[in-house]
Amino acid sequence: MFIGHYGPAFVAKAAVRQVPLWVLFVAAQWIDFLWATLIIVGVEKARIIANFFGLSPLDLYFMPYSHGLPSAVLLSLLAGGVVAVAMKAYRIAVVLVVAATAFSHWLLDLIVHRPDLPLVFDDMKVGFGLWQFPLVSVPTEIALLLLGLWIYDRAVPSATRAGTIALWLFGFAMAALQVQNTFFNEHPASSVAFAQLALAGYVALAVLAAGVDYLRKEKRPSR
Ligand SMILES: [Zn+2]
Repeated sequence: MFIGHYGPAFVAKAAVRQVPLWVLFVAAQWIDFLWATLIIVGVEKARIIANFFGLSPLDLYFMPYSHGLPSAVLLSLLAGGVVAVAMKAYRIAVVLVVAATAFSHWLLDLIVHRPDLPLVFDDMKVGFGLWQFPLVSVPTEIALLLLGLWIYDRAVPSATRAGTIALWLFGFAMAALQVQNTFFNEHPASSVAFAQLALAGYVALAVLAAGVDYLRKEKRPSR
């Protein structure tokens, strides 16, 4: 899953408003940040096979450290703990919400991946395989994203009109990116190139989220 992961990030922002949106964007992809890094350094393994699974070219045959269930739980708690330490108040709520956001990554991956998510180290792999049906999986991801965005926009209305417009433009641009990425993309030639592209994409989206967050805040009048 790609942009669908950001639906929970938006919902989390409605729950813990003091946490910057970009931090929640990183939390939602935290497991993939680690995955991409481990692919680049060669600890986890994947290979590119055209139309391997539905339209997905990735054979994710070894990723126990990032996408194994026990490590996903630990990594999610770690993310929650690190963010909570950086916050001044409501630390318990921050731990729980950020950890839940990070762990939602694994649960959403479970829906779309083929059985490549290991339950015990590299064994007992699960995945419900919705990616096999891109005409179902892509609208599902977009719906998840826009539902989360809508909940956030309602719960924490922007102080500025520009903030509301920027948020929805951002949402629709992400939806378009998902369509482009699934149906019209030249896939990278290697798993390392794929991981680098994913990492760059996640960083770019987090930066844009920081921009949207900034536009939505009340500016102090300059005197
Ligand atoms: Zn993942």
